[in-house]
Amino acid sequence: MSFVWTIAEQYRGTLKPVSFELLSRGRKLADKLGTKLASVLIGDGVGEEGMNELILRGADEVYSAQDPRLADFVCESHALVLARLIRTWNPSIILAAATSSGRTLMPYVAIKVHSGLTADCTELDIEEGTGNLLQTRPAIGGNIMATIKTPDHRPQMATVRPKSSRPLEKDPGRAGRIISVPVTDDLIDMRVKVLGYRKDAADFVNLEEADVVVAGGKGLKKAENFALIRGLADALGGAVGASREAVDRGWIAYPHQVGLSGKTISPDLYIGAGISGSIQHLAGIKTSGTIVSVNPDPDANLHKIADFAIVGDAFRVLPAIVRHLERRKSEAK
Ligand SMILES: Cc1cc2nc3c(=O)[nH]c(=O)nc-3n(C[C@H](O)[C@H](O)[C@H](O)COP(=O)(O)OP(=O)(O)OC[C@H]3O[C@@H](n4cnc5c(N)ncnc54)[C@H](O)[C@@H]3O)c2cc1C
Repeated sequence: MSFVWTIAEQYRGTLKPVSFELLSRGRKLADKLGTKLASVLIGDGVGEEGMNELILRGADEVYSAQDPRLADFVCESHALVLARLIRTWNPSIILAAATSSGRTLMPYVAIKVHSGLTADCTELDIEEGTGNLLQTRPAIGGNIMATIKTPDHRPQMATVRPKSSRPLEKDPGRAGRIISVPVTDDLIDMRVKVLGYRKDAADFVNLEEADVVVAGGKGLKKAENFALIRGLADALGGAVGASREAVDRGWIAYPHQVGLSGKTISPDLYIGAGISGSIQHLAGIKTSGTIVSVNPDPDANLHKIADFAIVGDAFRVLPAIVRHLERRKSEAK
């Protein structure tokens, strides 16, 4: 029996990357507890290859509840399936993603199984001695980190932000078990019918999926200067991010905000220019691959965690990088 579960997410038969990120979190907890880790897949159309990938990336077991009636995320039906699985197998810990579906599903399930839920955790650990899940998240407006325990109820449930951990590499040596869960009619709530999906095109910024993010902050002085950030992002084929100061000043729209009250990102390359590196901003970038900081202040916090700290003026450094990239591009032709 698996005691730590993670909830996989899928869309049209393809697993979302967050399913694998959750497994890397879950693996650490399961190893500490000396127990198994399972991934729960509720949906439709995910084939053997997808389910095997869950195993190669950390799961010991996959509970697969797949049915065409579960293809779309309908909270009521997905909650009925998950609640039944919980009552049948009694997991100790369940981790879900703090995505719109995870944030909708988990409170609903928590009520059904009479347990608690800690939303938006940034750190998870196991308490020595008791084996309780330590669920750490920002509290009181982000000014403190609170660690929450659920000693009296099971399962202990938490959501974690996408991109706040990296998936484990596929380990071809891993083996696991796929358990097919029957989806009976009583698990399907027919009151809700999905008619279709429409993408919200307004100010759509795919920061979370970008491999390169170039972000600007208050050091850019005014909105027009974000052209420098866009120029470098375009040259690198990346997306534009921003600090909250830049967003609050109206220089750029909120969907670009990175950090505690914005997006959590994990690009291969993050370049922050005119950003001091507040704890709230760093919370959104700490799993980035390579971090580059551009700031004339040698003591800027972002420099301290950066892989490359460029102590200099963004108005000179960014155009110089763009010129260099353009030169290299034309030489390569
Ligand atoms: C509950 C809560 C949630 C928050 N959430 C977020 C969040 O999600 N994201 C976020 O970013 N912040 C967040 N904040 C705000 C955060 O505390 C900081 O105020 C903010 O990150 C600072 O933004 P900044 O780095 O752009 O500005 P500053 O801290 O003012 O830094 C500006 C930097 O620009 C540098 N600079 C000046 N001139 C130049 C130049 N010519 N070239 C290059 N650099 C230059 C300066 O040296 C300075 O380091 C939150 C705060 C709270 C309380």
